[in-house]
Amino acid sequence: MVKDTKFYDLLGVAPGASDNELKKAYRKSALKYHPDKNPLPEAAEKFKELSRAYEVLSDDQKREIYDSYGEEGLNGGGPGGMGGMGADDIFSQFFGGGFGGMGGMGGASRGPARGKDIKHQISCTLEELFKGRLTKLALNKTVLCKTCDGRGGKEGKVKQCSTCHGVGMKFVTRQMGPMIQRYQTQCDACQGTGDICDPKDRCTSCNGKKTAAERKILQVHIDPGMKDGQRIVFSGEGDQEPGVTPGDVVFVVDEKPHAKFQRKDADLYYECEVDLLTALAGGDIAFKHVSGDYVKFSILPGEVISPGVSRVIEKQGMPIYRSSDRGNLFIKFNVKFPEAHFASEEKLKQLESILPPRTKYQIPKGSEVDECDLVHVDPYKHSNSGRRDAYDSDDEEGAGAGPGVQCASQ
Ligand SMILES: [Zn+2]
Ligand SMILES: [Zn+2]
Repeated sequence: MVKDTKFYDLLGVAPGASDNELKKAYRKSALKYHPDKNPLPEAAEKFKELSRAYEVLSDDQKREIYDSYGEEGLNGGGPGGMGGMGADDIFSQFFGGGFGGMGGMGGASRGPARGKDIKHQISCTLEELFKGRLTKLALNKTVLCKTCDGRGGKEGKVKQCSTCHGVGMKFVTRQMGPMIQRYQTQCDACQGTGDICDPKDRCTSCNGKKTAAERKILQVHIDPGMKDGQRIVFSGEGDQEPGVTPGDVVFVVDEKPHAKFQRKDADLYYECEVDLLTALAGGDIAFKHVSGDYVKFSILPGEVISPGVSRVIEKQGMPIYRSSDRGNLFIKFNVKFPEAHFASEEKLKQLESILPPRTKYQIPKGSEVDECDLVHVDPYKHSNSGRRDAYDSDDEEGAGAGPGVQCASQ
């Protein structure tokens, strides 16, 4: 599934880790190895590696490339390009500025902020993942107001708030006894909007809110061979907000369990029932594949299919994503024996001339032999709870016999 797990290993998470798990793992290890905290030269190197791993895995697009093609895939200039985001930039995204000085508010906004990604599960059957499917999904999203282009008012009439310099927040310093406390609060001059606009110049479509709701139809292509957990990313389709780069809309494939087939990567597993005659003397078998077609094959006379034995049909598994190749179809056989008394004793004798002879059991001379009876299992009588009541029924002295085998001790 995942080609190379190095980045996951570095962060100490499983390849299927959620964004949250990744974030936690990175935060924990980064705190340990950050050069400001750990002066060892190895630590700096380790910190760089960790940050690189997190940079890739925290980005849905890059993670997808890495999962499919490994680290080389990323160097090949995948979509979006790798850009020059250094370890410290990622780190400061987390902690809002370098270590030691907590005060540095000015440098907090390096480049535009990025909006949240929106995630949706797409439930798919194996049949759908075999053939591929196109799904149209309606997305309710926030977009910049088209009337005012997200300004909130007439052009040139919306001024940046001079109290907070457009941030919408301000720092307040307060003395509490010997402690000086510094905290952030909403700017009251602009009510946190970051700008000032005369009510008569305000945009009437959005009432100065700068954004509006929009319904958008997204066409999601489920390609043949896609897997559970695979992501389909619509870059920049997240909610729009002034001064923020929209996040992505991410669809995650959720593969429904199948009644007959199991899947491991591109391979399929099928449990096939075969009657005793076919298992011993050969014959044809057919069943419906997730492709919708029927798979047909022959057991050769004398091949002998034992219960539980497996065979494989090559290239009859799932399609391999973005390839014309297919995985394999593994078939595990359950041999269906005939019903009790399917033939007369007379006829059964004929089997002795065909089947290999009965097994002979050697019991060493002088051994005690208990002659036992085999009976059908009675779920009540032979269960552990049934046995607990055994003291008041005197026919249960055969404790220690295996399940279903009860010794006649009378
Ligand atoms: Zn507007
Ligand atoms: Zn303000």
